[in-house]
Amino acid sequence: MSYTIFVTAPKLAQPAVDRLKAAGCRMLFMKDANSVAEVNHIMASEPVDAVISRTVNLTGDAIRACPTLKVISKHGVGVTNIDVEAATERGIPVYVTPAANAQSVAEMTIGLMLATARKIAFMDHELHAGRWTRVQDGLQLSGRTLGVIGFGQIGQKVARVCLALGMRVVAFDPVLEGKSPMAAVSVASSLPELLKQSDVVSLHVPLLPSTRNMIGAAELEMLPAQAILLNTARGGVVDEAALVAALKGGKLFAAGLDTMCQEPLPADSPLAALQNVVLTAHAGASTGAALVAMAEGAACNVLQFLRGEPVDPAACVNPKVL
Ligand code: NAD
Repeated sequence: MSYTIFVTAPKLAQPAVDRLKAAGCRMLFMKDANSVAEVNHIMASEPVDAVISRTVNLTGDAIRACPTLKVISKHGVGVTNIDVEAATERGIPVYVTPAANAQSVAEMTIGLMLATARKIAFMDHELHAGRWTRVQDGLQLSGRTLGVIGFGQIGQKVARVCLALGMRVVAFDPVLEGKSPMAAVSVASSLPELLKQSDVVSLHVPLLPSTRNMIGAAELEMLPAQAILLNTARGGVVDEAALVAALKGGKLFAAGLDTMCQEPLPADSPLAALQNVVLTAHAGASTGAALVAMAEGAACNVLQFLRGEPVDPAACVNPKVL
């Protein structure tokens, strides 16, 4: 049986395209990766069986407009761009691709940590501008404490590298229930307990009502002097105005951000004007290896579901529809 698969982007990694085409699928792609109007138009006019959702919003209106839709798979793990509630109302499962991009995001996190601690991006900018600026006040990380908030796939990979650097690692994640899955990592029983001891805080939680703005002015105030905040999770997890104030006021040494409240980052964002912030464009998962793994994971999810084959239930974010 032939299925229509809509990829909400202009392309998908070739091994996944090959897999779907070999299965006889008809594939639809977008012209403009950021156009919600184009998503809505395709959903309302084509017999789409499955959506592979990349970064553009898949709204409730789009989901409701497509009577043939049976399954959605995120290309990745963060489903903030998908109206999961609307999918659930229609009994449509939404799958993710757990772990497919975790190594790449963890490596980006480590890159941001080193770049902020040693002011690498600042010096790079100076030297490119013809100024031989030698930073003398960088932070050595060995001996400092990393606090990992959200100890899932990415958080655990970040922890392993930081232990190898000679850092102490403490984690906060309600699912741990006090027990660490890694012998060398201690578990904090509350967020304040973690924050008070963390020289570097790294965020690896999904954006949920319970995690929105979980790091605000009060939480930043709990950190030791010269702390670094890393956010490769989602911008909404951090109160950005409080973060800017802490960076300007010297409470924080620096921040490394792959995700921001508003993406693309507006040119007049106060974050863009701060020298002690290293910014990347939500590119943590954008490596060839991660893109192939996410695309193949998403292709498998939709094909298996459409064929009535078992799909990993742990990969479903709305399991009550199953
Ligand atoms: P994961 O599901 O393996 O881990 C998330 C962990 O967060 C879970 O263990 C969960 O129990 C924990 N958690 C949930 N609420 C919490 C809370 N209030 N306090 C502490 N912990 C809490 O997911 P992952 O693969 O490690 O990804 C983590 C997040 O990273 C994703 O949800 C996504 O938002 C983000 N992400 C970003 C990029 C990027 O390109 N920058 C790519 C992939 C994922």
